[in-house]
Amino acid sequence: MPIATINPATGEVLKTFEPMSADQIEERLRTAVDGFAALRRTSFDQRAAWMRAAADILESERDQLAALMTTEMGKTLASAKAEVTKCATGCRYYAEHAEAMLADEPRGAKAVKALRAYTRYQPIGPVLAIMPWNFPLWQAIRFAAPALMAGNVGLLKHASNVPQTALFLGELFRRAGFPDGAFQTLLIGSDKVEAVLTDDRVRAATLTGSEGAGRSVAGIAGRVLKKTVLELGGSDPFVVMPSADLDKAAEVATIARCQNNGQSCIAAKRFIVHTDVYEAFAERFVAKMTSLVVGDPMDDATDVGPLAIEQGAIDADEQVRDAVSKGAKVLLGGERPYRPGWWYPPTVVTDLTPEMRMWHEEVFAPVAGLYRVSSYEEAVEIANDSPYGLGSNAWTNDPGEQERFADDLDAGMVFVNGMTTSYPELPFGGVKHSGYGRELAELGPREFCNIKTVWVG
Ligand code: NAP
Repeated sequence: MPIATINPATGEVLKTFEPMSADQIEERLRTAVDGFAALRRTSFDQRAAWMRAAADILESERDQLAALMTTEMGKTLASAKAEVTKCATGCRYYAEHAEAMLADEPRGAKAVKALRAYTRYQPIGPVLAIMPWNFPLWQAIRFAAPALMAGNVGLLKHASNVPQTALFLGELFRRAGFPDGAFQTLLIGSDKVEAVLTDDRVRAATLTGSEGAGRSVAGIAGRVLKKTVLELGGSDPFVVMPSADLDKAAEVATIARCQNNGQSCIAAKRFIVHTDVYEAFAERFVAKMTSLVVGDPMDDATDVGPLAIEQGAIDADEQVRDAVSKGAKVLLGGERPYRPGWWYPPTVVTDLTPEMRMWHEEVFAPVAGLYRVSSYEEAVEIANDSPYGLGSNAWTNDPGEQERFADDLDAGMVFVNGMTTSYPELPFGGVKHSGYGRELAELGPREFCNIKTVWVG
């Protein structure tokens, strides 16, 4: 992929960038080491003040930054503004809570024959953060805010199609007062990841992205014995049971599938509906999906803009065609329009079978698969019949079923009567091919800490 800003609404190349040279990468690695030496000696209060300053910058530059993200990857301007605000909130959350999350934890001294015993969370050094384009600000901030508060430093390798957002991020924390080297952008393609990750000065990596990228990075990190956190793809189930509020479920289902133009890891992608309410739900859901306004992402009236990259439109088209060629029925959409840019319309496909790609693959576009089931057991079986296990949604007003779904869904997150969403307060991450490790809450800042046991006799 060239490192370039290409407007996905038109396909127009707006700005291209040269990847950084080996010398430039070397300089940033050295700066990261110096930055770590400086940052780890600062107090939580100092880091919190800088983190709040970063939040202030985000808030004061919200509109320009949102327009930049919309230009680079096509999300609607309204959702881009909301993303900037969420990032500022995330920074403030960690400014306030990181110290308590990373405080020494006393252990039972008597049992281990000590005067005192405790665990201490210490930063480990420069962490390589490989990030995707879909929430180009939030994905990076959700790593950076807890990591910097813990005293680690970050090297950001962002997706090649959001270079200007990446450059903004590379300046943000320095502008907020953090030492040079606390958070830098490496403008490099994925072919340079191995060289950076195997460098002794880089201590760990976090990757948010596709399963393929996760396998590659985990393989490299494994060879050099470095820790990784992987936030990968998802094909979240959205189960609707007879006791559910169908109007609400259909409304949330539409948002859950089409948020971010259908390109969210935690988008609901497979809608698994009990036969007693199947027709009633399908009618409401298709009506809601039909009512979505597709168009210019800069326009306030738009619900769904273009896909971020051309390959995304090609993939969605191939996945739907594959399903149709094997007997699936299209209830809405299903045709890639002939127009400049990377467009794919809101689509609903039913009669899916395990032979079809859509059954097992993630569909990163506003394409919903609709499944009919005749029991709780069948709903769970289909929900779990996926290589992924990121988020999941269950709609039921039966308290017994709510508990059973929480137990039985094979996912990192279960949201009952609501849409899977990331909050700074809640751990975020998946199981199976959706990756491992957790971001956010108190687990995020601890992932890249040396959890040091101290025993004093
Ligand atoms: P992607 O192609 O995997 O790219 C993600 C990042 O990884 C980019 O910076 C990319 O760089 C880099 N990359 C790609 N292949 C690599 C390789 N072999 N070695 C090292 N780095 C590599 O993913 P995407 O298309 O941007 O994002 C969509 C995917 O991310 C979806 O599967 C989605 O579900 C997942 N995602 C997961 C989460 C989560 O929290 N679990 C959140 C958001 C997105 P280049 O751009 O230079 O190729």
